[in-house]
Amino acid sequence: MKFETRAIHAGQGPDPAYGAVMQPIYQVSTFAYKGVKQMGPFDYSRSGNPTRKALEDCIASLEGGAYGFAFGTGMAAETTALALLSAGDHIIVHDDLYGGTYRLCKAVISRQGVDVQFVNLRDVDALKSAIKPHTKLIWTETPTNPLMNILDLAAIAEIAKTKGVLTLCDNTFLSPYFQNPLALGIDMALHSTTKYINGHSDVVGGAIVVNDPELAGRLAFHQNALGTCQAPFDCFLVLRGLKTLAVRMEAHNRNALEIAQWLEKHPKIESVLHPGLSSHPQHDLALRQARGFGGTFSFKVKGGEDEAFRLLANVKLFILAESLGGVESLIEHPWTMTHLSMPEEVRAAAGITGNLIRISVGIEHVDDLIADLEQALEKV
Ligand SMILES: *Cc1c(COP(=O)(O)O)cnc(C)c1O
Repeated sequence: MKFETRAIHAGQGPDPAYGAVMQPIYQVSTFAYKGVKQMGPFDYSRSGNPTRKALEDCIASLEGGAYGFAFGTGMAAETTALALLSAGDHIIVHDDLYGGTYRLCKAVISRQGVDVQFVNLRDVDALKSAIKPHTKLIWTETPTNPLMNILDLAAIAEIAKTKGVLTLCDNTFLSPYFQNPLALGIDMALHSTTKYINGHSDVVGGAIVVNDPELAGRLAFHQNALGTCQAPFDCFLVLRGLKTLAVRMEAHNRNALEIAQWLEKHPKIESVLHPGLSSHPQHDLALRQARGFGGTFSFKVKGGEDEAFRLLANVKLFILAESLGGVESLIEHPWTMTHLSMPEEVRAAAGITGNLIRISVGIEHVDDLIADLEQALEKV
């Protein structure tokens, strides 16, 4: 079945109790046994819950994987994946990625004895030489946040396989509609479902999808042992959002590309970082690896922080807020907002500068969005 159909039907059917057409919210902590030693399909909601199972099966299907897991936040999904590591293990993490992932690796995982090494994974030779005998995991994110660099997932997966190292891709930015890491050989696809998958800025959540039954067993164990699972009501909301993922992603993609092309010609713009533009240094790789570019991208205004702040102060429709992937358009300043958890020198070295702006283009009419940016840029 096609993506659009799976988004609406996978993992779900009329409820066996009353034929409810939509997945009911099983707002319950515990389930009755039929008798001594006769457990039903669920016993306790931390280990499993019917509403969560419907969501997990649906996301797995959309990622083209066999096993899905839903978590309370994207960071809870990350915590669970990183719990597969033990003290003394080595992990290679792409050096330009979500600020919260950087903080988790730097301030928590390292302290627990995991040897964390940040490497620019656009350079596959650097990856090859970074792999050590005790390397257990390679952590990727593409396109990267907020610089929109692209990693070659198939090339990374191939190197990892020859060395027997697990790979993970944070696929939040493109969603399973545009990119499927498992099909490119990556072992774990991870999402902050807070973003495009839910799509309505009204819930936080995370997900991991895998194909390997042994890896799935380890993730299920850790999801239960750590208690990182998502609550039934939040699973219901994410399932509801997920049904329209295909139509939303098409609209985000179309609006964002049109705005990127418009900004590129604007005299007050220094550069536009969007993988769909032929000016993007990895445009061909982006086209080969994914079916679209999503709705989030960045650009630099001519000048510095003052010019960026004037733009942010003058937009009326774009909302000044962190996060991305909702139906409404958001605008933010990575240097002082989303990427503040990275030390100044790390931000600067990566190219996150004071004049960099990130926008999450919503699904409003593109003419209104361009008009808003135009009037704000006049005041810069
Ligand atoms: C937001 C985000 C996360 C963290 O997810 P939360 O739901 O906020 O915990 C991880 N990775 C990326 C790329 C994100 O954008």
